[in-house]
Amino acid sequence: MPYKVVCKHCGYVFYKDVKPPKLYEIYKSVGGRCPRCGKRISWMPSSITLNT
Ligand SMILES: [Zn+2]
Repeated sequence: MPYKVVCKHCGYVFYKDVKPPKLYEIYKSVGGRCPRCGKRISWMPSSITLNT
């Protein structure tokens, strides 16, 4: 099963790969906000869900 990082507010998929995600890289790439719902995200797993 691949790793999946999704927005907990709207379910937007930030990252999906078999390799473990670099959470800070994801955070930087979207500017700290979910591109779909506009909610602020944290690079900590409290705001983004890891499904393995
Ligand atoms: Zn969202």
